[in-house]
Amino acid sequence: TPILLWFRRDLRLADHESLRAACDSGRPVIPVFVHDDQVADLGAAPRMRLGLSVAHFAQQLEAMGSRLILRKGPALQVLRDLVQETGAGAVYWSRLYDPAAKARDTQIKSALKEDGLAPRSFAGHLLFEPWTVETKTGGFYKVYTPMWKAVRDRDVPQALTAPGRMLAPESWPQSDCLDDWQMGRDMRRGASGLAARCCVGEAAARDRLTRFMDGPVTAYVKNRDLPGVDGTSRLSENLTYGEISPRVCWHAGWAALQAGQGDAEVFLKELVWREFAYHLAHHTPHITTGNWKPDWDAFPWNTDETDNVQAWKQGRTGVRFVDAAMREMYVTGTMHNRGRMIVASYLTKHLLTHWQIGLDWFADCLIDWDPCSNAMGWQWSAGSGPDATPYFRVFNPVTQLDKFDKDRAYVKTWIAEGYRTPSQTALDYFDMIPRSWAMSAADKYPDPVVPADEGRKRALAAYETRGF
Ligand code: FAD
Repeated sequence: TPILLWFRRDLRLADHESLRAACDSGRPVIPVFVHDDQVADLGAAPRMRLGLSVAHFAQQLEAMGSRLILRKGPALQVLRDLVQETGAGAVYWSRLYDPAAKARDTQIKSALKEDGLAPRSFAGHLLFEPWTVETKTGGFYKVYTPMWKAVRDRDVPQALTAPGRMLAPESWPQSDCLDDWQMGRDMRRGASGLAARCCVGEAAARDRLTRFMDGPVTAYVKNRDLPGVDGTSRLSENLTYGEISPRVCWHAGWAALQAGQGDAEVFLKELVWREFAYHLAHHTPHITTGNWKPDWDAFPWNTDETDNVQAWKQGRTGVRFVDAAMREMYVTGTMHNRGRMIVASYLTKHLLTHWQIGLDWFADCLIDWDPCSNAMGWQWSAGSGPDATPYFRVFNPVTQLDKFDKDRAYVKTWIAEGYRTPSQTALDYFDMIPRSWAMSAADKYPDPVVPADEGRKRALAAYETRGF
């Protein structure tokens, strides 16, 4: 009897445990992708990007004589229908760890068991299963550094190679047509510009890793904080959809370290920040939905879509570092980590606005949107999370620019106003934003909606009056 192989955020052939187990079983394999509520609920850019990944992966499967069956509906119903239609005796998938996916998968697993099937879930999205990383007293880590020390020297099994062949079923079930799903339907103007910038699929992800290990890793410690320099791996986009496994990245990092590239250790540490985000979400799922520290519920955040919040979203706060970063995200679907920290600090501290508003906007715009890293990043910035930046640490977006973008390479890449010859990327922004934003490259660059010093004083006063 065939095995249904349910793909979600694991759209690759190499280092794929459930795929390997299904192929090694000697039984026919039916790969499936389900457009369920969790796909429908994705923000505009990540859903569009997921569509590109699904299309690419379907082609990869076809090249090896298989197919990706596409179906829309509640996942359990779809899987049950397919079991009926194909006579499948088992359903395999790779585990996901964000609270919403975990709740869905747990329910599906028990329902399929009751149906008499053999559902099996496998590792692959993380380096370390969250429940296998424990403090000495058997608890979970709330602070990053001890977790890093606990996992740094762990044995991580070698990555699996892609299976040579996959047995096809005697007949294929019907499949939807991906175009009919219109995965990019909620994109505002400029969807094709964003799609053209994406780096889709397994081969592209591997090339990215190789390129990084052949060059930028040598100066990663110095350059990873400079948004105007191409100094990081940019692999978050691919890790999000599982086009490359964290294990492959981990081993590449270790190989570089052993070959004398000391900076590779910091890359390994960054991969463990991703693990930490999942570790926290596994043990304290409310991190994705509410203040991790409940005393922050009393903080008087602004929760309205004020003019200043709109200015933040639209990259016209008049604060260059903030605007450059917000425009970078709008045009490319990603944002440099330094930019993410600056814009999150500006929204939550200078504009005293609830981090949830920023988290939701990121979830709509980022092609590397990750439910756990995004939540951890926002709560870290706002001060409401575990291991968070303390309330009195208010990034000054002006001095940060002098420190991390001295020659203004980043600002010039993303801001057109005021330059006689603006860069093409800065102009691209105006081609992509909705006309209703009424912005033009010929405008005068705006004055700050909240100047750096004034915002800092106001934030500190708000925190202090509340006794934080
Ligand atoms: P590299 O510097 O090359 O690092 C390698 C990998 O390590 C990354 O691909 C990523 O998987 C992981 N990593 C690096 N830094 C972090 C971090 N701080 N937290 C978790 N993992 C990390 N990352 C996302 O993948 N998706 C998000 O939705 C997301 N939202 C964020 C929101 C805020 C407010 C903040 C402050 C950070 C957020 N991050 C998010 C983390 C980080 O900014 C990105 O992972 C990083 O910029 C990706 O670039 P890179 O792949 O070139 O990273």
